[in-house]
Amino acid sequence: MHTSRFFEASKVFDNVTLISGLGGEQCYLVEGRERALLIDGLSGVGSLKSFVRELTDLPVQIVNTHGHVDHCGANFEYGECFIHPADIRLMYDHSDPEKRLGFAKSGAMFRPLPVEPTLEDVIPPRAVKTFPVYDGDSFDLGGVTLEVIGVPGHSFGTIVLLDRARRMVYSGDACNANTLLFLEGSASIEEYRESLLHFKSFQPEFDGMYGGHGPGPVPNIIIDEAIELCEEIIKGTDDQIEGSSIGRPCLYAKAKDDHFRRLDGKLANIAYSRENIRKQERRAR
Ligand SMILES: [Zn+2]
Repeated sequence: MHTSRFFEASKVFDNVTLISGLGGEQCYLVEGRERALLIDGLSGVGSLKSFVRELTDLPVQIVNTHGHVDHCGANFEYGECFIHPADIRLMYDHSDPEKRLGFAKSGAMFRPLPVEPTLEDVIPPRAVKTFPVYDGDSFDLGGVTLEVIGVPGHSFGTIVLLDRARRMVYSGDACNANTLLFLEGSASIEEYRESLLHFKSFQPEFDGMYGGHGPGPVPNIIIDEAIELCEEIIKGTDDQIEGSSIGRPCLYAKAKDDHFRRLDGKLANIAYSRENIRKQERRAR
């Protein structure tokens, strides 16, 4: 375990390091023979770039699974990133230093923070050179290949990265125990279901997923459960538990406890809004 005031690092494979930020958000440094890929960039509170420099001598590039506040912070240090074009605007919308500081401070809900972060610690936003990534692209790191799978839902530009040799996916917030589908910029449940069916076509190639929050790896059957949930939501047969998330009302597809564990023991859950179930409803707004 390698730690700083702002970050904690632990190995998940000999060439893969999980790094978590103050808010509990997680990114992954994957090293090949020739270069390294940083999958997501946390919230940009503290210098992730210097922390990563302590972990590897390889040239490092950053790819974002999506454009949210807790995944793009280091873009403003590296000055460039790979991102799906549909999420570039989201990245800038979420670049506000107060917003990113607020996310880091929210980690105090789960554990006492090792440092009380201030605005001084936030990497200032700036223009970032964006290289587009699309479904079907791949990154060759020298002996390690990561393939891009588009899974629009949580955001329209959400991607995940598949390492076939490891039988592992780095999934950001694409599909987990608390997948948020009610956000501005989330796809409808119908569209998310289609994305999950595409994701499922790769399911024989991997066993688990390391995500942007919470412990991993999560078994790949979570995709089947999420597809099932989408179908129940579309039919109106899910639990429709009223709740709230990030200060806004939403519905949870399945009853859960305070730690986002489903009461029936299954893994997937979706937080959504009634207005964003059908594809055409979203387009009409
Ligand atoms: Zn997100």
